[in-house]
Amino acid sequence: MHASLHCPYCVKADGFRELIKKAGGEYVCSACGHSANPDDTEWRCCCARCQGMNLYIENAGYSPSESHKRPDRVTPPRESGSHKP
Ligand SMILES: [Zn+2]
Ligand SMILES: [Zn+2]
Repeated sequence: MHASLHCPYCVKADGFRELIKKAGGEYVCSACGHSANPDDTEWRCCCARCQGMNLYIENAGYSPSESHKRPDRVTPPRESGSHKP
């Protein structure tokens, strides 16, 4: 029923990385561990990036429902390994 889900954090050259469906209707990103469950409206992902996002939202008094409207606040993943002091 559902279209395939994509990880909002892992961007490939040709688009977002697809989430892998697991038993119970849960979808998991094999790269960063982000998970989603479209059948569970109370679903809360506990991956590091979502945890950071939730903290940011709570600190800013930001309503989670607002974030559904415009997902353009997602920051692209930082390149790592190329930074030297
Ligand atoms: Zn991911
Ligand atoms: Zn997540």
